[in-house]
Amino acid sequence: MSARILDGKSLALEVRKECRMRVNALKAQGVTPGLAVVLVGANPASRVYVNSKSRACAEVGMHSEICHLSGDASEKNVIERLRGLNEDSRIHGVIVQLPLPARLRAHLILQQVAIDKDVDGFNWCNQGALSDGYPRFVPCTPLGVLRLLEHGGVKMDGRRAVVVGRSSIVGKPLANLLLLRNATVTICHSRTHDLARETREAEILVAATGLPGLIKADMVRSGVAVVDVGINRTPEGKLVGDVEFATVSEKASVITPVPGGVGPMTVAMLIANTITAAERSLSAAH
Ligand code: NDP
Repeated sequence: MSARILDGKSLALEVRKECRMRVNALKAQGVTPGLAVVLVGANPASRVYVNSKSRACAEVGMHSEICHLSGDASEKNVIERLRGLNEDSRIHGVIVQLPLPARLRAHLILQQVAIDKDVDGFNWCNQGALSDGYPRFVPCTPLGVLRLLEHGGVKMDGRRAVVVGRSSIVGKPLANLLLLRNATVTICHSRTHDLARETREAEILVAATGLPGLIKADMVRSGVAVVDVGINRTPEGKLVGDVEFATVSEKASVITPVPGGVGPMTVAMLIANTITAAERSLSAAH
């Protein structure tokens, strides 16, 4: 079997087209959705991500701001900036670009983003709402994965899903989303005893570890739907996922490529979440 590719690049373009229409509808009512990205320090990869988020905003007609703080900013400095953005009526979505410098406590700083502007869905209130089954803002990567699976016609109801990785950004919220779609979900992590035994059970397998080539063909069953969230750079500078694409795609029924799979969906869902925040602010005002 050679797997069908779940093309995140073209689906992201579709999502962005929907976003443009939603932005036009909001503008007709006097509201331009706005996203603020707080960037601390000068991590080159973070700069690339932040710039691509601003470009994506501009493409759909949204306002965006990069709030750049120096690498030696204190927690207090970052929190003050976030509080200002929480109060700014031109801004509907506020995100903090991760990773923050190690000396800053990211998990505490993220709690300072107002829950109605928390378009990354990292605030504990939004994480809790999702795990309670009442999602409000859901982290963008898991949301993008779900959209890819739905668009690819992958049935989730009653199926066995295995998520490898348990971060609050990807693995855990994704497991919650799959549960809400009635999948039977197993979460694996670095202490899982026999990873291959777990992954071979999967009818839907998501890899989100940051370990290139962790998932090999002998770890999957024939016909599995595979989503590769990993983004890893090889010493030669090539981008690869957590899944050995060439061999696993021979056994899978569908698979996401890296690059061109989950990555473009993440940015598209950030834009969509920010527009949702602007729509909610408008309906709250009426
Ligand atoms: P984290 O480092 O926060 O989490 C990695 C997870 O993988 C942890 O839960 C860890 O387990 C688990 N893990 C590590 N080693 C193993 C192993 N040998 N077997 C099983 N599980 C293991 O990473 P993120 O969740 O933030 O990101 C994961 C990957 O996804 C990265 O490559 C990142 O670049 C990529 N990413 C891609 C995005 C996109 O848009 N496509 C967006 C966000 C992330 P433990 O908890 O026990 O340490």
